[in-house]
Amino acid sequence: MYQLIEKLYPICRSITGEGNRKTLRILQEIIPLKIQEVPTGTKVFDWTVPKEWNIRDAYIMDSKGNKIIDFKKSNLHVLNYSMPVQKKVSYNELKEHIFTLPEKPDWIPYRTSYYKENWGFCMSHNQFMELREDEEYEVFIDSSLSDGSLTYGEYYIRGDKDDEILFSTHICHPSLCNDNLSGIAVCTYLARHLSEMKTRYSYRFLFIPGTIGSITWLAKNEDKVKNIKGGLVVACIGDGGGFTYKRSRRGISEMDRAVENVLKHSGRNYQVRDFIPYGYDERQYCSPGFNLPVGCLMRTPHGEYPEYHTSGDNLELVHPDNLKESFDILLSIIDLIENNRKYINTNPKCEPQLGRRGLYDMIGGTNRKEKELAMLWVLNMSDGERSLLDISERSGCNFDLINKVANILKEKDLLRGVEVV
Ligand code: ZN
Repeated sequence: MYQLIEKLYPICRSITGEGNRKTLRILQEIIPLKIQEVPTGTKVFDWTVPKEWNIRDAYIMDSKGNKIIDFKKSNLHVLNYSMPVQKKVSYNELKEHIFTLPEKPDWIPYRTSYYKENWGFCMSHNQFMELREDEEYEVFIDSSLSDGSLTYGEYYIRGDKDDEILFSTHICHPSLCNDNLSGIAVCTYLARHLSEMKTRYSYRFLFIPGTIGSITWLAKNEDKVKNIKGGLVVACIGDGGGFTYKRSRRGISEMDRAVENVLKHSGRNYQVRDFIPYGYDERQYCSPGFNLPVGCLMRTPHGEYPEYHTSGDNLELVHPDNLKESFDILLSIIDLIENNRKYINTNPKCEPQLGRRGLYDMIGGTNRKEKELAMLWVLNMSDGERSLLDISERSGCNFDLINKVANILKEKDLLRGVEVV
């Protein structure tokens, strides 16, 4: 995952353009995702697919021919979606088109101007302070805004059921690692892992530009939405902070409860936040016309770490161990949802005799007491109405243990499965 991030880091991405295609083609080396193109001008609910933006080069040059700013050194130097420009400007005119972070003077900010035509440069405040008021500068941005398309990646993995779990991650940021190459890398390898498993549910992975990408997908796939039984937007998942789960608008869906259950028993630092209509693409999935059970899993939330949307969000901010941990948490969430079944106790009149069936031997080991208690919970609560997740929540036992003892009881014909509808 970290190597994938290293490979994708130099590419200049945006909400449209060649950089996104290049990114998705690299992902195709790992998973067979489909690259979808939606033409400029396509109406998607209240929005329109914008013109495609591409950039080849950009710089600011002083009168001696020194490049003060060079796009080739960092793609963050250009205001993302900048119009093309080539002219000589005074310091005062240039100043109006420069973005810096005076409070973080070493870092280049990341700025965009998607829906308002503008040109501009981003630089560290230290670099800005070196510009001279009596100097004339040449500004050059070799970009184009023209009819083309919006590009996104989609990978659908067929399971036993039509019901599907959605994973959505944004691909529109240029050289920034945590936001969101981390999400792209974790989702790519999660998809590959799932494609090698036999699953009860189907899985859909979307690699889309933020906001306009999810709006476009929803507008073009309204017929598929009914199958989405849960989902997660995955973003900012590679930093060293604890986990943050932002609930779906519904708040108590199976996905919401599954994530909270896994985090609670993970032994990791975590926090759970209620839905707010601000953030990533969960805003669109949770708009009232869809109201899908889609939450958002992050580590440190957007805007709450100092490197956020600056050149400080680089390869050092993200660590392979953190990516692995995030991957494992997501896999546990999937495991829970895959195994969250309902059972009926086939011997409901008084407790069955566990010893006679050799069950005490099967649940041996160091925490025998805990396993025995989990078994009693599963036997008592399995009335065909309660799911294993209900039992885990009620008993306080972790889901894995509840699932394990349920499987043992099923083997001994003390439980009969009921398919969850
Ligand atoms: Zn961002």
